[in-house]
Amino acid sequence: MEIIPNVHQLPSTMAGNAYLLVGETLTLVDTGMPGSASRILDYVGGLGHSPADVTRILLTHYHVDHVGSAALLKQQTGASVLAHSGDMPVISGQEPHPPPNQALMKVLFRIVPAMSRFDPVTPDVLVEDGATLDILGGATVLHVPGHTPGAIALHVPAIRLLICGDAIDHRGGRLGPPPSPFTIAKDQAIESVRRMAVLDYDVLCPGHGAAIVGGASDQVRQMARALG
Ligand SMILES: [Zn+2]
Ligand SMILES: [Zn+2]
Repeated sequence: MEIIPNVHQLPSTMAGNAYLLVGETLTLVDTGMPGSASRILDYVGGLGHSPADVTRILLTHYHVDHVGSAALLKQQTGASVLAHSGDMPVISGQEPHPPPNQALMKVLFRIVPAMSRFDPVTPDVLVEDGATLDILGGATVLHVPGHTPGAIALHVPAIRLLICGDAIDHRGGRLGPPPSPFTIAKDQAIESVRRMAVLDYDVLCPGHGAAIVGGASDQVRQMARALG
């Protein structure tokens, strides 16, 4: 689904949202759960592009619902995988996917291995805070830790867009900080929300829930103020 010109939300990623940015080449932001690759590539094909047109896969953070199909998509497109150094050990399989903080979710994670199992992928490029990417008039990577150590967001000022991964939650149409059971450092996550609240953008593409089109940064500011 095209959210605004050249920015698409990809279908059927099961849980985590994935987005496609269409410039001279295609950039994928997140990849959904394992098993999402063919549907993502079908969508790319539907736009008249071949898999090889996808040159970058940016991973907002290491959770399985965002990196789940990254290894296969890298293989099928030849794209470079970009991620922050803080999340690299889990994405590349050097460290296990951490379980949630909540007891019940922890048990579920243990008895349903598929909840955290994915094919690891070694990032080709480690992006740090302030890194710029040549996408849709120029994009800036923001390090927004807290949900995970290496969570990143992507700000694209020319089209007034912020892709925030799970650093801002929008499940059920409600804006908030990332959900506690899956967030390793809550205070840091709130600091990151405040950082994104001072930027200007009309469109917010979150990791969960629908995109906000129009006045997004005002809504995030309001939410951040309510956090006290
Ligand atoms: Zn998520
Ligand atoms: Zn997450």
